[in-house]
Amino acid sequence: MKVKYSYLERQFKDADDLWENLKNFVKTGDFTLGKELDNFERNFANLIGTKFAVGVNSGTDAIKLPLKYLNLKPGDEVITAANTFVATVGAINELGVKIIFVDCDDTFCMDVNQIESKINSKTKAIVPVHFTGYMTNMPHLMKLSEKYNIPIIEDACQSILGAIDNKNAGTWGLAGAFSLHPLKNINVWSDGGVIVTNDDKLYNQMKLLRNHGLKDRDTVQLLGYNSRLDTFQAVVGNWLLPKAKEISDKRIENAKYMDRSFDEIPEIKLPPRPQNYRMVFHLYIVFAENRDELLKYCIEKGIEAKVHYPIPIYRQEALKHLKHKLGDFPVSDEHTKKIITFPCDQHRTKEELDYIISTVKNFYS
Ligand SMILES: *Cc1c(COP(=O)(O)O)cnc(C)c1O
Repeated sequence: MKVKYSYLERQFKDADDLWENLKNFVKTGDFTLGKELDNFERNFANLIGTKFAVGVNSGTDAIKLPLKYLNLKPGDEVITAANTFVATVGAINELGVKIIFVDCDDTFCMDVNQIESKINSKTKAIVPVHFTGYMTNMPHLMKLSEKYNIPIIEDACQSILGAIDNKNAGTWGLAGAFSLHPLKNINVWSDGGVIVTNDDKLYNQMKLLRNHGLKDRDTVQLLGYNSRLDTFQAVVGNWLLPKAKEISDKRIENAKYMDRSFDEIPEIKLPPRPQNYRMVFHLYIVFAENRDELLKYCIEKGIEAKVHYPIPIYRQEALKHLKHKLGDFPVSDEHTKKIITFPCDQHRTKEELDYIISTVKNFYS
């Protein structure tokens, strides 16, 4: 049996109604900003539970634009996770500030107990990453944010509809960033991102920043970016958003199914599963003994397992100017040797999941 990692050919297989919507859209010629984008933003804000949503051209820009709003200066510091996807760091880097990393814990998110010691007068923002579909400990982080008056921009790109105590990812901080990239849980046919916020001023600034700072056709209020969400993709998004809840529920169901079986394999350790967290399993990761051999075995058996990631961002070549070295973030380092990601999305059949489990059992026996 083959178990592929990507499920995209299943996701848009039965989409005749979407093709119909797109045909009608193309006839309107309303290709930039426009009604479909307005609808998408309203639908998205409703889904997440914020006052506003602003479509931008990527999840990266959904992090960058709210940071831009904070008027950061060279020498300022922004705290983020040492084990995140490169885009978080790339977005912060574009502001010309110093990136301060914090190690993760076994939830794959920043260990919030390590943040306070990194805060100083130069700290101007914290970007927690709700990595893999987990949540950063936001109740704790918001206390620090209030104590030191430091704004939080949440990187919720992997955690759409994730929550703690029923409060969604992206709704805790000043703004939340989501990605609509084809590989994310809610995905359009190209790049795309969304900023959510309850802050009127930030919202208005985001609308300007994403569209060259144009207040209207003839008035440039500030210098911004070309970072609109493509309206064509907003049509795809409008088709997909009504299914968002079902998609995350199915992912959770499949992850629970895997958890139950993996729990019986002594060589596999599950990450913590806190009761008050809603984890949406963008990546289904477990800790495995003899990981490299297991990975090889699974691939031989047709299962496209992966490692997210073999080298944490803090140790990448591109960041060598920060002069970090192996061991600076020991939990992230330890994870690189033990983590394995299995295909476990909303389209996996029970047969596929059973095949993964029996393959892992065979490997250890
Ligand atoms: C995907 C991702 C991003 C950026 O999203 P793009 O839409 O690809 O620009 C940012 N942070 C994390 C953690 C991501 O996984």
